Parts: sequence; structure tokens; C-alpha cells
Amino acid sequence: MGIRLRCQCGKLQGELDPGGVAARAICYCKDCQAFARFLEREGGLADVLDAAGGTEVAAAMPGALRFTSGLEHLGCMSLSPRGLYRWYATCCRTPIGNTPRNPKNPYVGLVRACLDAPAETLDRQLGRSRILAETGSALAPVKPTPARTAWAVVKIGTMFLRARLGGGYRNNPFFLPGGGAPLRQPRVLTLDERAALTR
Ligand SMILES: [Zn+2]
Ligand SMILES: [Zn+2]
Repeated sequence: MGIRLRCQCGKLQGELDPGGVAARAICYCKDCQAFARFLEREGGLADVLDAAGGTEVAAAMPGALRFTSGLEHLGCMSLSPRGLYRWYATCCRTPIGNTPRNPKNPYVGLVRACLDAPAETLDRQLGRSRILAETGSALAPVKPTPARTAWAVVKIGTMFLRARLGGGYRNNPFFLPGGGAPLRQPRVLTLDERAALTR
């Protein structure tokens, strides 16, 4: 059974095949924190970050996701000219996910806030284990998880290669077919805008 993807107001919806999720993670990096503040500042969810500044994501193959309604509400930003594309719902500023700039790198880190399923369902479908990434920039002490992280890197790498070699990477709902251009022109923050969001 698929996991429903839904922005907070419900205009943007989609479905995720849990088989396309390689790992779950909580990322404490400053960029993920800045993205959450970017959305929050302009009226988005206040509770994307956990108490230590972590964002929970599901590391997935983009081909495992399809949008089913409200695609016109999908927006894109980037914290710098070379930063990840960070996708969100423009209607209610719910974060959706982060992708590399090149769709030949088939990866999306889907933010927990857009997955419309209770914790128990996600635990059952995706496994309970989460890796903790970039713990050095957490806002409160968190323990790194090196063994789990190594295993997740292998799983993500295997999926990545399969999508790359098997051509599955061409199925990426965040990019236009063929050319490699993102579905939306990203809004790239200026250095000042970014600094204002970074702690
Ligand atoms: Zn919305
Ligand atoms: Zn991060």
C-alpha cells in the first residue's frame, strides 16, 4: 500500500511507494534548519524541526513518488546557487523534499511533514530505524549512529545504482522529462537572505 503525501492544506497530494524508500534519517545540518525557518517565516509549519533542530526525512528514489493533484502548488527554492533544490507546497508552505540539482542523481529526501500517515504506519512500512545525520550542527546534544549510517549508505547507494543503470532515474516528478530542467525555476536566496536564516 502506498503512503499518501499531502501538504498541510491538502491542495498538493501524491503517493509514495514505500518500496522506494532506502532509509529514514534525521538531518541536523544548518541548511535543513535554514529551509525550515524559510518556510516558517513566511507562514509555514512551526513544527518541522525537532527540539535539537533536526528534520526527519525519508531517503527515497524520486521514481517512487508521484503527484496526484495540485502540482501547480509545487514550488522550489535553493539556499545558494549550487545548493540542493528544496521543494515545498506554495499554498501552505509545507516542505516536500530535497533533491540534487542533476536528475541523473536519483534521490529525494522527503520531509516527514508531508507524509500523511501516523507514526505507527510509517514505522511499519519503512522500518523504525532512523539514522542521525550531521549531528555536529544539532542545537542540542544527539548521539551519532555510525553503524546504522554505514548500512543506510549502502542501501541508498544500491537503489541509486539500480535507478541509474536501469534507467529508472528518468522517472523523476521534480524534473521536466528529457531535458534535466527542474519543474519549477528555483528561487535562489541571496547571501544576506541565507545568513538571516542561519544560526
Ligand atoms: Zn497546501
Ligand atoms: Zn540536512
